[in-house]
Amino acid sequence: MAQPNEGQILEALKTVRDPDRDGDVVSLGMIAGLVVKGGNVGFSIEVDPERGAALEPLRKAAEKAVENVPGVLSVTAVLTAETAGGGQNGSQPSAHDHDHGHAQPKSDVLLPEVGAIVAVASGKGGVGKSTTAVNLTLALAASGLRVGLLDADIYGPSLPTMMGIKGRPTSPDGKVLLPMENYGVKTMSIGFLVEQDTPMIWRGPMVMGALEQMMRDVVWGPLDIMVVDMPPGTGDAQLTMAQRVPLAGAVIVSTPQDLALLDARKGLNMFRKVDVPVLGVIENMSYFNCPHCGQRSDIFNHGGAHAAADAMGVDFLGEIPLDMAIRETSDSGRPIVVSDPEGAHAKAYRAIADAIWEKVGPGAGAGREAPKIVIQ
Ligand code: ADP
Repeated sequence: MAQPNEGQILEALKTVRDPDRDGDVVSLGMIAGLVVKGGNVGFSIEVDPERGAALEPLRKAAEKAVENVPGVLSVTAVLTAETAGGGQNGSQPSAHDHDHGHAQPKSDVLLPEVGAIVAVASGKGGVGKSTTAVNLTLALAASGLRVGLLDADIYGPSLPTMMGIKGRPTSPDGKVLLPMENYGVKTMSIGFLVEQDTPMIWRGPMVMGALEQMMRDVVWGPLDIMVVDMPPGTGDAQLTMAQRVPLAGAVIVSTPQDLALLDARKGLNMFRKVDVPVLGVIENMSYFNCPHCGQRSDIFNHGGAHAAADAMGVDFLGEIPLDMAIRETSDSGRPIVVSDPEGAHAKAYRAIADAIWEKVGPGAGAGREAPKIVIQ
C-alpha cells in the first residue's frame, strides 16, 4: 500500500478548524513535531494551557481527519501546552489531555498505583545506564516485588532488546495499551511502537507527549516499584519526568572516569534543581575482568565514582565490573541477573537493588509529593 507523506497529512489537517479562532490548525501554526513512519503518524497540537481540557474534541477531530488519509494505519495526536519559557524550564506542568473527555486538574498525579518510581540516569550515553536499569529491575523482581520498567530513553530505546521482548503491545479497547512482559516485569518502550531501524526526530513537545502517553495510557496496574530508564543528559525528557512524575529518587550511573570528569555531576545537579532526591551513584565498568587470564585490571581509574560521590555528599551504591558476560547477556535479551542468578554480578546487582528499595520502599517514608521546580 502507498505510504502517506507529510504533505497529505497536513492537507487533511487543514480541514480541522480551531473552534475558538478563525482558521484551521495548520494555518494557525498549531501542528508540531509531525512524524510519518510507514503508515504510523504522530504529531502534537500546541494549545494555550487554559484551553487544554476543552480541546479534546479538536484532538479527536484531527486524529479522525488523518485516519482517513489512504495508507494511514495509526494516528497519535497529543495536545501540548507550551509554557511561556518555550517548555524548556516550565514551572507549570503541560496541559495534556489524555483522559478521553474529562476535564482533569493540571496537578493530577501520573502513575498513582505505583509505590515508588526511581529514575536511572547518566550524564552521557554509553556508560551502561540501560544495562544497569534492566539488571536492577530484574533484581527487584527476583526479590518478589511487583516491578515495572519504563523506557524513557525515547531517542535510543534499547529495553526491548535487553528484555528479550519482541512484538507490539495490544490494546483491549483502542484507547489504552497493555504493557509487554518478560521475566515477570511489565515493560513499556517507544521501541515497541516504532520501527527500530530509522532514527526518529523528536521535538520537545513530542517527547513530552510520548512520555505522558507511556505513563497515562498504559495499564500498569498496581506496582511496588517502577524503574525508569532515562535518556542520557539533562534535556526536556528529564525535566518532564521530574515535573510530571512523583519520582521517589534518581540513581546516577557513571564510569569511574566519567564522574571524575563531571559528566555525571551535571545529571546530579539537574535532579537537585527539580528537588528529586539523588539516591546515589553506581560505578559501572568499574574494573576489567579478563576472560582469558582471570586477572582484574583497573583500567578506568577504579574508585573514581566512589571518591567523587563522597566529595559530592551522595551515597555510593556499589560497583559493577566491565565484563564480557554482562554485555553478551544484556545484548542478547537474557540479562545476567536472570541468566546467571547465582553469579557474582547478579549478587552485586541484587545488593544495589536492595539498597535502593531500602531508600524508597514503604519502610523508608520517602515523600510522594510531586517535586517543585526551582529555577535558578
Ligand atoms: P547507555 O544506556 O548508558 O547508553 P548501555 O547500557 O546501552 O549504555 O551500554 C552500552 C554498551 O555497553 C552495551 O553494549 C552494553 O552491553 C555494554 N555494557 C554496559 N555495562 C557493561 C558492563 N558492566 N560490562 C560490559 N559491558 C557493559
